[in-house]
Amino acid sequence: MESEEMAYRYICKQCGSVWYSASSLDTLYKKNCEKCGGELIEFTTTPKLGEILVALGVLNTARLQISLNLQKSLKKKIQIGKILLRLGFVGREDLLKALEIQRKLSFQS
Ligand SMILES: [Zn+2]
Repeated sequence: MESEEMAYRYICKQCGSVWYSASSLDTLYKKNCEKCGGELIEFTTTPKLGEILVALGVLNTARLQISLNLQKSLKKKIQIGKILLRLGFVGREDLLKALEIQRKLSFQS
């Protein structure tokens, strides 16, 4: 595989599978996950954890903002995932799913 960074990346909302395509979602013929038929979300850059959780539909942007503000106000740096979990905004399973997706979407150089 060459120039993988030119491809569009999608994650399945349902099973968290990552798919690559040369075309954007708008022109993609098959808009559902080949594995489970779940809805695909397009990512062109490596998203932040909060963005993935919002895209998955398990977190709303208001709650994400509250958590980010709280994170900023803390003297000690705490991962956003831990804050979300502590506040009860996301479940452990959803958080692990989002972390796995983020890991898959991060290109190793
Ligand atoms: Zn799927």
